[in-house]
Amino acid sequence: MKWYPWLTVPYRDILSRYQLARGHHALLLHSKPGTGELSLCYAISRWLICRQPNGIKSCGRCHSCRLMLAGNHPDFYQPELEKNQQSLGGDSIRTIIDGLYERAYQGGMKVVSLLYVEQLTELAVNVLLKTLEEPPENTYFLLVCQTPARLLATLRSRCFYWLLRTPHEELGLRWLREMGYDNPLSAVTALRLCDGAPLAAKILLNPIRWQVREELCVVLREVLTHGDLLALLPTLNRDKDIKPLHWLLSLLTDALKWQQNAQEFIINADKTPLVAELAARWPARVLMIHWQQLLHCLLQCQEISGVNRELFLTYHLLNCEYGVANAYAFL
Ligand SMILES: [Zn+2]
Repeated sequence: MKWYPWLTVPYRDILSRYQLARGHHALLLHSKPGTGELSLCYAISRWLICRQPNGIKSCGRCHSCRLMLAGNHPDFYQPELEKNQQSLGGDSIRTIIDGLYERAYQGGMKVVSLLYVEQLTELAVNVLLKTLEEPPENTYFLLVCQTPARLLATLRSRCFYWLLRTPHEELGLRWLREMGYDNPLSAVTALRLCDGAPLAAKILLNPIRWQVREELCVVLREVLTHGDLLALLPTLNRDKDIKPLHWLLSLLTDALKWQQNAQEFIINADKTPLVAELAARWPARVLMIHWQQLLHCLLQCQEISGVNRELFLTYHLLNCEYGVANAYAFL
């Protein structure tokens, strides 16, 4: 299990409740992706299931710890999606719950770790709800989610909610530097583009991934010169990847901040010349037209499954051009 420095404080705070026997039987851990939530969840599971914990640490030597380390503890349940499986159905949860009502194989605690609760089907959630209402003895549920608003209110209300905050930017940057990413402007930009989640920033800084963003910036600069927004289409439509749209929106937002002299809040710290050029060439009204169209497009791509992305992108980019032409007519 990998451990990250910013997890130590929340781990200690969560465990202090369990040490005092005040830990809730169902913990809902809310985090941004790439914050190390899986490591935290696993570490809590290890402690709960260890038979001889040493303070806030699992001992690593007892029979339960050895089974956990071997990945085959019979009282630790962590269902995972099969390949090509989109969601976890009621049968998977029911099978686990049937097992929970039997005596623990190792005579200790039973832990059900559900990573990404959003993947549960409605039926699976309903099966889970009944169990959370009247949980079996010596059983803990650890639920990880990224968008609690999408969960049923009844599920949220039966859990103890814990927000795993992203680390302070300085700590994230220090960790990225230790990982070998020592260009401070790239590192701070990646971190901000990932809402402060260091593991997600590390993936973004991978040279192949980072190059995609570099290409987007090059094309955007050309668009500023010749005005043909459709030139952005190939980069925005690559490999069903939604991130370039996010990046473009963040550049437009930065340009609006620049116009308001709010440079200290800029996300794309490594592209300030481009942001300044955007702010100088496109008035706020034009930036807003682009921003609204692209945000609408992004939401549609996220919410509608099987959407024809190329068609949507073309439609919204053309709408941008049309909207801008109208805006200039009234300027
Ligand atoms: Zn142990």
